[in-house]
Amino acid sequence: MGIFSDSKEKTYGSGSTASDYRKTPDISTLSDSAFDAVFQINAQDKSVQFFHYSDFFKKNGISDLTINDYDELIQTISDKLSVDDEKQTLPDQAGLSVVLSDIRRAGVFVRAFHVNTPEGKRTKSLRIYRGSSSDEFMALIIDIELIIDHDWMTDEYSSDGFTRAASNMIKSLDLSIGYSICYANIQDFKDFNDSFGDKNGDLLIFNEQHVLKDILHPLLMGRLEADHFVMLVPDDNLTEENLDRITFRTYEDNVIEYDYNIRLGIYHIHDSNENMSVMISWAKLAENKTSEEEHYTGVFDSKMREDYLKTQNLIRDLDHSIKDNELIPYYQPVVDTGTSQIVSAEALVRWNHHSRGLLAPYKFLPAFSKNGEISKITRLMVDSVLDFNLWRKSQGLKTVPCDVNLSQIDFYNPAIMNYIVERIKAIENANDYIKFEVTESSFAVLETEGINFLKELKDLGIDILLDDYGSGMSSLSTLESFDFDIIKLDMGFIHKIGTSRTSEAIIRSTIEMGHGIGASVIAEGVETKAQRDFLLDAGCDMIQGYLYYKPITQEEFAKVLGK
Ligand code: C2E
Ligand code: MG
Ligand code: MG
Repeated sequence: MGIFSDSKEKTYGSGSTASDYRKTPDISTLSDSAFDAVFQINAQDKSVQFFHYSDFFKKNGISDLTINDYDELIQTISDKLSVDDEKQTLPDQAGLSVVLSDIRRAGVFVRAFHVNTPEGKRTKSLRIYRGSSSDEFMALIIDIELIIDHDWMTDEYSSDGFTRAASNMIKSLDLSIGYSICYANIQDFKDFNDSFGDKNGDLLIFNEQHVLKDILHPLLMGRLEADHFVMLVPDDNLTEENLDRITFRTYEDNVIEYDYNIRLGIYHIHDSNENMSVMISWAKLAENKTSEEEHYTGVFDSKMREDYLKTQNLIRDLDHSIKDNELIPYYQPVVDTGTSQIVSAEALVRWNHHSRGLLAPYKFLPAFSKNGEISKITRLMVDSVLDFNLWRKSQGLKTVPCDVNLSQIDFYNPAIMNYIVERIKAIENANDYIKFEVTESSFAVLETEGINFLKELKDLGIDILLDDYGSGMSSLSTLESFDFDIIKLDMGFIHKIGTSRTSEAIIRSTIEMGHGIGASVIAEGVETKAQRDFLLDAGCDMIQGYLYYKPITQEEFAKVLGK
């Protein structure tokens, strides 16, 4: 689709190969949008022969009817189009002697200059290079901004281009009629790309582009990346019927038939002065939040803005808050089922936020999981647990190993994995102080680096615990694929003790199976005596739950641990 076609390689004056500049335009594909002029210059008599003019040049009286030679062309551009600052300088800077000297030296002459247009000041580029004979030179005048503004694959605007064009356009729209910024994105596009290859992926993007255009009739459209499109759409076109037609699609060619969903986020424009990039991100946020129940279409509302800003504030506050000790570990003791003695504890993060009070992990961990910052929390928890236990040890006080929860993100972060391994190597008998929990769902998607990290910890004697076992798509192969030391039964099962025979049977057989593979079993979320009695009878090794202890502060934990 490119506008350039490669011609043969040429060697220039000094012997250097100007491979970057050896592209000549394929005139048949020239669009008025990017090229203002394409012409040949004869260095002997300075005459020019034109191949192409843009409408913009013609409208300003610059054409082969009015221009006789190169000097006249540059002078006319200066007089009629140049911005004030450059009216005097352009004829000198782009004079033919300068051009020829640059080409002798560097193989090419390139200068940017600025012109006034009805849409405002724009940057153009004059590029001249050697032609087919020694006296002939090829020249192009290109609108650089249009090239930057353009997505060459789909012929739509690029991200910058859309932002600029849409900002300008909404100023001239009567917003009382109703217009929206829409953000579209194919659900699970990556899966399609992985299964059918990039080429088919591109075809699906074209398909999406045409669906969006045909149904929504956007005034402007841009492609931001891969399958992500953004549009300026009259609200009249956002009918329920249209939105449903967009959502549920089938892509078909000779080989593939594939059902897919286009997700759409809508931001109603209220104010023509609102920043376009911000409006696009609100539409994207609405797209992000939509679910299958909403037919993958979501309209941005003020609650989304509030939630988003709250999360952004938390993200902004994280580093400060860690320094100010606002993020702290709580400890939930784990007891031996038979003796009720504390045998370990799970470290659970809390945020004692300076203005919002004590925050539970679900309020902030999801945001940090998205941006990778969660590893800072992992590090803080590792340090807290180790420092706490090492201090107690140094005082001759009782210690129990405390579990730190690893996030899926940690397994993609070599720095945190290294940090943990190095800290543990530096401590004698670190297994007396720390263990790690991995949830079943993050284990399921682990790649080699993550598995190796867990193996390395095990080689250092550290216990690895499989958390929330049975909560999701548990599979026996999880247990087969890694030698877990402890299995933690999900509280979903525990809460059904006494009411569901099936859950009870699953608990009994999981405990048996755990023991069969040499692992101990913890039951999580134990709240009643009846649950405890059942677990004792079923042979469960350890219990964690409100029946014994809720998560408590470090001071309270130190107290219950005793001497
Ligand atoms: P989890 O690792 O499964 O932790 C157990 C959760 O169950 C804790 O919630 C705990 O307070 C709660 N719980 C314990 N016993 C009972 C009970 O008897 N009844 C009920 N209803 N709940 C009980 P919490 O502290 O809100 O943590 C929620 C989740 O947040 C954790 O689930 C874990 O996935 C995550 N999390 C907490 N701290 C960290 C951390 O430092 N790092 C990472 N990566 N994740 C953490
Ligand atoms: Mg856990
Ligand atoms: Mg758990």
